[in-house]
Amino acid sequence: MAEPERDVLEVDVLIVGGGPTGLAAAIRLRQLLDAHNARIDKDGSGDRLDLSIALIEKGNEIGSHAISGAVLDPRALRELDPEFEQNGCPLESPVTEDSVWYLSAGGRWPFPIIPPPLRNHGNFVASLGKVVRWMAGRAEAAGIDLLPGFAAAAPLIEGDALVGVRTGDKGIDRNGARRANFEPGIDIRARVTLLCEGPRGTLTKVLVDRFKLDEGRHPQVYAVGIKEVWECPKGSLTPGRVIHTMGYPLDHETYGGSFIYHMADDLLDIGLVIGLDYRNPHLDPHAQFQRLKTHPAIRPMLKGAKILSYGAKAIPVGGYYAVPRPQLAGCLIAGDSASMLNAMRLKGIHTGMKAGMLAAETTLEALVAGDTSQEFLSRYEQRFRASWAGREMYRVRNFHAGFRNGLLPGLVHSALQMISRGRGIRDPLPSGPGHERMRTLRQQFGASPPPTPEGARNDGGLVFDRVTDIFHSGTRHEEDQPVHLLVSDTDICETRCREEYDNPCQRFCPAAVYEMVPREGGGKRLQINASNCVHCKTCDIMDPYQIITWVPPEGGGGPEYVKL
Ligand SMILES: Cc1cc2nc3c(=O)[nH]c(=O)nc-3n(C[C@H](O)[C@H](O)[C@H](O)COP(=O)(O)OP(=O)(O)OC[C@H]3O[C@@H](n4cnc5c(N)ncnc54)[C@H](O)[C@@H]3O)c2cc1C
Ligand code: SF4
Repeated sequence: MAEPERDVLEVDVLIVGGGPTGLAAAIRLRQLLDAHNARIDKDGSGDRLDLSIALIEKGNEIGSHAISGAVLDPRALRELDPEFEQNGCPLESPVTEDSVWYLSAGGRWPFPIIPPPLRNHGNFVASLGKVVRWMAGRAEAAGIDLLPGFAAAAPLIEGDALVGVRTGDKGIDRNGARRANFEPGIDIRARVTLLCEGPRGTLTKVLVDRFKLDEGRHPQVYAVGIKEVWECPKGSLTPGRVIHTMGYPLDHETYGGSFIYHMADDLLDIGLVIGLDYRNPHLDPHAQFQRLKTHPAIRPMLKGAKILSYGAKAIPVGGYYAVPRPQLAGCLIAGDSASMLNAMRLKGIHTGMKAGMLAAETTLEALVAGDTSQEFLSRYEQRFRASWAGREMYRVRNFHAGFRNGLLPGLVHSALQMISRGRGIRDPLPSGPGHERMRTLRQQFGASPPPTPEGARNDGGLVFDRVTDIFHSGTRHEEDQPVHLLVSDTDICETRCREEYDNPCQRFCPAAVYEMVPREGGGKRLQINASNCVHCKTCDIMDPYQIITWVPPEGGGGPEYVKL
């Protein structure tokens, strides 16, 4: 098929991703530009700048793909807008109570003292979806062009520079033919592109490989967070109450824990985070999350409550040493895409926002200087590492690696790291890609592995199977489009992976996208139910053979977390 003619849109700055990082970058850039022009107007030195700034977001609306419910450290937000509360930032409640529990199968042991990094005094319980929609309103009012429903599908690279992105085509059918409503993607060319695509960014992944941005850095490591939002009986919650747990339902070799946040309006946010470096090929993160809700300390919290929403998303937990080189000519990478998250605190909103703001500062300087080379832009990385966000990450630089051998050694490492300001007994502690740690069936179970475990089943109100939970996520895609999960060799799924790992994609995908179904004539074949996908990126990360690539489906598709 001939390459279609594409429109070209030229902007000065393009931001990919309408999460907290991308929006903070957009707002800061506008603030800095206004300050720059005001200075020129005052002292008459230099030229005024008039910049076109656009932000694209693959979700149907800004906030559609933001997993609601978070504890927000307001440090970066306050720098962005010192009057964020007076200006109507929709926070649910200041944190009023912090607890950490160890859960055994039947009991709960509250920590007598909350470790300092887990104390949330001064932070807010917030719905990320609401916060980013508020930020989007402010960005739009400041003159930023927000383009939701547009997914960046490919980077535009010229020589050693990123010169923009190509958005995805719309109106292609499942066989790759053009439908009547075919619209070719457009090339958005920019002097500087900020990649703020969240965890396992599609373009970031291509650029990291192509320009070796991870050379000399630790590999990326992720966890997956699976969560639900429930509406509880009126008055049954204490807004601002924050509970973190460890232990049940995870065994001691698996990294992770749960969070429970009491929001305003009787909403309860509950989720489980599981390291995507788990070892048991039969582990099923969705089923583990469902088990969490049946724990005797947690079940009563959901009595009489009604589920409102479900979602899942990867979280970059590799920390300071896993931050790739976050710039190349014409491009800066910020937030979750660059692993700028404090894994110990499970917080990346404030560090992402700060990174976005620093990226904006560097971008304006580059445009004023007319120099968008990698050398000039490298001041962004220096600034990030020197900032409070970089220093905060540095203090917990070995946190995740400390848990490589399980919970108990992990707790000992954490304690030692805390008293040595992050150093611990070895610095850096070794790390490695999570998918390489999955054991084969034989390694896990010996010569006679148990049968394939079944996923969670609906119990009539508390526990849900995957398909019911997908319904709760509001996920919707155009059905007649090419599959956006590219499996480079399905023979491996049907032979080696089946024998060696019992097709773990059927379990690690929290949205029932991958199914091994009987093949006519015997055996099994892989069926991909792509329209269920909640865009969590787990398959791209955890597949033991690394043969799955997640690419953006048609813009506007995916979960719809915005309704909360
Ligand atoms: C379950 C869970 C709980 C969490 N709890 C907390 C918490 O309590 N406190 C905290 O501070 N942090 C928390 N985090 C982490 C926090 O959500 C992230 O660190 C933060 O959202 C990162 O912001 P970001 O803008 O970099 O990425 P994101 O928030 O992921 O935003 C990226 C945006 O880019 C869009 N996008 C991606 N690819 C493309 C593309 N190709 N084209 C166009 N658009 C694209 C996405 O749709 C998304 O809207 C949690 C994360 C999870 C998953
Ligand atoms: S297909 Fe992949 S990205 Fe989509 S929900 Fe499943 S694991 Fe997540």
